[in-house]
Amino acid sequence: MSEMNELFYRDPYCRSFTAEVIRCEKGKKGYEVLLSDTAFYPEGGGQPGDTGTLNGIRVLDTRKRGDEIIHITEAPAEGIVKGEIDWDRRFDLMQNHTGEHILSGLIHQKYGYDNVGFHMGDMIQIDFDGMIPAEDLAELEMMANRIIWNDVPVNILFPGEEELKDLPYRSKKELEGLVRIVEIPGADICACCGTHVRRSGEVGMIRIFSSEKHKNGVRLEILSGRRALQLSQKLHEQNSRISVMLAAEPVNTASHVERQKEEIVKRDGQLSRIRQKYITMKADGIQPERLQILFEEDTDRVMMRKYVNLLIESKKAETAAVLTESIQGFDYVIGSVSDDLRKKAKTLNQRLSGRGGGSTEMIQGTFSASKEDIESVLREEL
Ligand SMILES: [Zn+2]
Repeated sequence: MSEMNELFYRDPYCRSFTAEVIRCEKGKKGYEVLLSDTAFYPEGGGQPGDTGTLNGIRVLDTRKRGDEIIHITEAPAEGIVKGEIDWDRRFDLMQNHTGEHILSGLIHQKYGYDNVGFHMGDMIQIDFDGMIPAEDLAELEMMANRIIWNDVPVNILFPGEEELKDLPYRSKKELEGLVRIVEIPGADICACCGTHVRRSGEVGMIRIFSSEKHKNGVRLEILSGRRALQLSQKLHEQNSRISVMLAAEPVNTASHVERQKEEIVKRDGQLSRIRQKYITMKADGIQPERLQILFEEDTDRVMMRKYVNLLIESKKAETAAVLTESIQGFDYVIGSVSDDLRKKAKTLNQRLSGRGGGSTEMIQGTFSASKEDIESVLREEL
């Protein structure tokens, strides 16, 4: 690791600098610029590459190629340039990267698990090689935030080979040569090439937003700093609106929703019993005919199928079509003991701009046609 021209290691807070363009050539995604010095962090260790400007020219990405740091720019650059990195974005990455160290270190201490996957996207995803009980998450979050309140220094160390042997550090791979160790007292010791904040206090806050089973362990989605605050604000805003709609205390919205869901299940049961009684009574009053075409209101597919079956079983029809108005036109369920409906479905759908199908005895779908057209086509075809 040559620290000489990597300003982001000497000072991760360096946001503007002057350097000389050593080389600039056209690449696949833009121009590839090599500088004498740079504060732009190249993608690595899970941390995305920096963006910013060189003499006002956009730097779209920064990548490491061999020992070189390549700036991918929108236009060619030459001579002496002033580099400026997108500081809000980078500081956000520093907060989130440091937050990840704190939480991963604490999880390693508590359970012995290793961080086996790390991705910094809209959410910071961390995969561990073991399960974390859901009831432990709030306490882990509290422990991580306690490290923030203690405002401990984030130390960067370059231990000698002997020293390194005795150091209980986390690492994703076997390392050789000069190893850069990031130490956060009380939380973590880890080999890492990324950029971090100076003191844990600058992380602001660490939130665990989700946890799900992943391979043989768990995937946590976390955020730190500004992004943690912004997402917490969004979630709070959503819960506030729900709380107003339910007329419930913001801390009790879930139990109110549970009660409403139970109420809906109860009413659905009642409604389906009432509909069942209604179709039974209606079928009783119908005169038997070979073909029955019935347009119904306030019904659903389940009840339509039941009604068709009822009409056929009680011999009120050989073929029964029950329809109800829908957004696309009319939903239909047709049953028959005498026609092969699977064959008929094609013709009916063709003539009535419909879709759907089913078995020989029963078909269902939607017709996009008027009530009158449906009635006359059904009388012709069935
Ligand atoms: Zn790191």
